[in-house]
Amino acid sequence: MSDECWLTVPDGAEFGTDTLPYGVFSQPKRGEAGARRIGVAVADRVLDLAGAAGRLGEEFAAVVDAPVLDPLLAAGPRMWRSVRRRVIEWLHDPGYRPVVLANLISRADVELHRPFTVADFVDFYSSEHHARNVGRMFRPGVESLPPNWRHVPLAYHGRAGTIVPSGTPIERPRGQRGQGEGGSPSFGATRKMDFEAEVGFVVGVGSQRERPVPVADFAEHVFGLCLVNDWSARDIQAWEYRPLGPFLGKSFATSISPWVVPLDALDHAWLPAPGSDVEPLPYLRSAPRWGLDLELTVRLNGYPISQPAYSTMYWTPAQQLAHLTINGAALRRGDLIASGTVSGAEPNQRGCMLELSWDGSDLVLLGDGSQRGYLNDGDEVSISATAPGPAGRRIGLGAVTGRVLPARG
Ligand code: MN
Repeated sequence: MSDECWLTVPDGAEFGTDTLPYGVFSQPKRGEAGARRIGVAVADRVLDLAGAAGRLGEEFAAVVDAPVLDPLLAAGPRMWRSVRRRVIEWLHDPGYRPVVLANLISRADVELHRPFTVADFVDFYSSEHHARNVGRMFRPGVESLPPNWRHVPLAYHGRAGTIVPSGTPIERPRGQRGQGEGGSPSFGATRKMDFEAEVGFVVGVGSQRERPVPVADFAEHVFGLCLVNDWSARDIQAWEYRPLGPFLGKSFATSISPWVVPLDALDHAWLPAPGSDVEPLPYLRSAPRWGLDLELTVRLNGYPISQPAYSTMYWTPAQQLAHLTINGAALRRGDLIASGTVSGAEPNQRGCMLELSWDGSDLVLLGDGSQRGYLNDGDEVSISATAPGPAGRRIGLGAVTGRVLPARG
């Protein structure tokens, strides 16, 4: 096999030839013949995976001949590795070129869909910088980090049914808006529409109830990652969240990127998570604790406003998985386990408007001269990311995008 991929990557392509993420596409111009199929994104094209696998007589052809990633997710890590290995061989051995070319479709001709059936959705709270900033704003005068925070990976259960694919417009939600301490609420469209830049881990292989998943078994269960925008209505959230946590301030919509990046694409991105003088309980221990060197970029109407560093996250995805199952809860295929807002130590690394504008008190300046405390109707938020790849290159991890629409009525 040649070291060189025979497919050239044009400038500006979202993915090169190293990420090879999986998604679900259709070709609307082809009518019924353009039904949903599993694709692999490469350069400026989408590879019809079942089309190529069928022509080449691959054993896995039936697993990927589906309108959704679910059967591939369920097939487990050995299958995940062999499919990826074969796709890499196809792209490097010129002997496969005619079949592969016949199954490559221009990105411009496809529509992308929600790639997998989302089972349960859990959102963690694993950035220490984010947790401290929120503490400073909402609980001034006391220690910013809650006393349990370094011992227990905190999270809330979200709403899987309102997870939408990138590009879906998001209507500004209405609800009970808090009016500060002690005041009674008003009702109406949120005045504090926000995004949260996050990374989501997609469970492929579920687990049995009452059989906790050890930290070391992370890669036996998790297929890959996508980018997540956990849209948030801060005035609704601030009024409702005590004492049981987020509810309607979050559940109206959560956007995910259309391309799921397999863990096998991230071999060069693992690095030890930040150290701590607090020893976690035994079920959360691993040495070192493996985090990921992912660099996120948040754009508002195309203007970069933040570069959150996932490498600064305190709790690792493997610890999150171990914690989620320690009480006997089972994992299911399609579970989405999100990191929580990714915020680094610097002001330009904060992963939401709440922190970037300090709850609207320090407006964010965009490249067109306009300013924001929170999101306006019509604003488009895009969260993209890169990671270290082979030979010192960085690989693209895709993007999740969504535009805010005015509240209805
Ligand atoms: Mn969140």
